[in-house]
Amino acid sequence: MFNKILIANRGEIAIRIMRACKELEVKTVAIYSDADKNSLFAKYADEAHNIGESAPVKSYLNIEKIINAAEKYGAEAIHPGYGFLAENPNLGKECEKHGIKLIGPKSSVISAMGSKIAARKLMKNAGVPIVPGTEKGIKNSSEAIKMAESIGYPIMLKPSAGGGGIGMRIIWEEDELLRAIDSTESLAKSAFGDATVYLEKYIQEPRHIEFQIIADEHNNIMHAAERECSIQRRNQKLIEEAPSPVMTGKLREKMGSVAVHAASFIGYTNAGTVEFLYSNGSFYFLEMNTRVQVEHPITEAITGIDIVKEQIKIACGEELCCPQDTIRVYGHAIECRINAEDPLNNFTPNPGKITGYRSPGGLGVRVDSGVYNNYTIPSYYDSMISKLIVWGRDREEAISRMRRALSEYIILGVKTTIPFDKAMMASPHFHEGKLHTHFVDEYKNEIMDNMLKVIEEDKDMETRLKSTFLPSRKVAAVSAAVSSYMNKSIAKNKGK
Ligand code: ADP
Ligand code: ADP
Ligand code: MG
Repeated sequence: MFNKILIANRGEIAIRIMRACKELEVKTVAIYSDADKNSLFAKYADEAHNIGESAPVKSYLNIEKIINAAEKYGAEAIHPGYGFLAENPNLGKECEKHGIKLIGPKSSVISAMGSKIAARKLMKNAGVPIVPGTEKGIKNSSEAIKMAESIGYPIMLKPSAGGGGIGMRIIWEEDELLRAIDSTESLAKSAFGDATVYLEKYIQEPRHIEFQIIADEHNNIMHAAERECSIQRRNQKLIEEAPSPVMTGKLREKMGSVAVHAASFIGYTNAGTVEFLYSNGSFYFLEMNTRVQVEHPITEAITGIDIVKEQIKIACGEELCCPQDTIRVYGHAIECRINAEDPLNNFTPNPGKITGYRSPGGLGVRVDSGVYNNYTIPSYYDSMISKLIVWGRDREEAISRMRRALSEYIILGVKTTIPFDKAMMASPHFHEGKLHTHFVDEYKNEIMDNMLKVIEEDKDMETRLKSTFLPSRKVAAVSAAVSSYMNKSIAKNKGK
């Protein structure tokens, strides 16, 4: 096993990785930016070093500084987590040059899957069904129009190097396409350093279903079932669950074997995710994420596999913990991404100081958090501050457990997605399990009404819990301010 690992990430995922290291008795090195001086992950690590200014390019995206830190502090391996550098093949290349092990697949594989266009081509060659669309980047608008006509509107205009739902747009007609190309290209250039955009058939109301793949460096590979991630805003996931409510044994076998084939075809090693869009019994390859996924804990909950520990062991040359025929799916898990965003105001990011924090607990509840009481959330990074994961014997139990855990979760000082999550757990349509990627838009009014309802229901409990860390006078003032804001925003939203 490694002696020491450097974690090239921040927030909850940095802590998640360090927890796995601690169980494996591996020492951890955290690197933090100026803005993260007081962050929880820097305090959790065995050693923590400042690597630069707050802007990601000056710190978390700076490969040279990260490699230097690994060498200087004696880390034999680097875990990149998700986001930032995790999908940048140059990190792997530099690691290979410096004799440092990157915990992930080979850089050539990251490279192959990093471009959506290249990945689609490879997958087509592998016989994997892909979303119909162009096989090359768009060169000019007349070509784009021809391509769009042959695919048929509506279409999705997407950055080839994209991630996090950034930059993609639904296009309904030719004029719109002409207007969108330039701006999407420049957005892609500034967000991903690559202006290439392409077209895909827009699949209407699909489900997002993805498979967890784990492969070792001895040609053993398996999938650990699926996750459904259809509850999204701006094409980015908010709530995920496993298994998918639509899954059957037969469909899992079919989609799972396609996912495993896709990964084997490119010589995949370590943990990765094959994403599909699913619609009316058909499924199409969307992309492959060559890293640990934000929502990996729900797979851990239903299979019992510690995915991050497996990543580290595999990088160390060990064999796969559990062959395919030993994988069992047990019960149901749900994850809510807790973002510092205002769900009443179009999920606008809302960083700031947390003035009161109390996390939930009890049977089947897991909190992966990067924050604490009196912590100030910096504005430089992603708005996700923690993840609440629950497990239940079945979907109904998981939903009621999530509802209960959310009612115990108190975060004061910043607006969070918690009221939205509560409203979703109270939605009869969510209970029915008829999910699709536009669910949040379609049931916007119902979700708004539910937010009001659940806030009212949780009021007394919240007041009692707040009184564990605030004087009662302050509790009353905070509660009054929150209620007034909620009522006003909901009234404003309904007026639209
Ligand atoms: P996942 O695919 O793991 O479910 P997301 O798509 O939401 O999760 O992305 C995970 C995190 O990584 C988010 O913080 C997102 O903003 C960030 N991210 C994803 N892809 C990229 C990318 N290509 N470049 C930079 N950040 C990215
Ligand atoms: P990212 O790399 O940003 O995660 P993805 O290609 O995985 O991008 O797509 C993210 C989400 O955007 C999907 O889960 C889905 O909701 C939506 N989406 C992407 N492509 C399509 C498409 N062709 N048709 C319909 N929805 C799509
Ligand atoms: Mg994706």
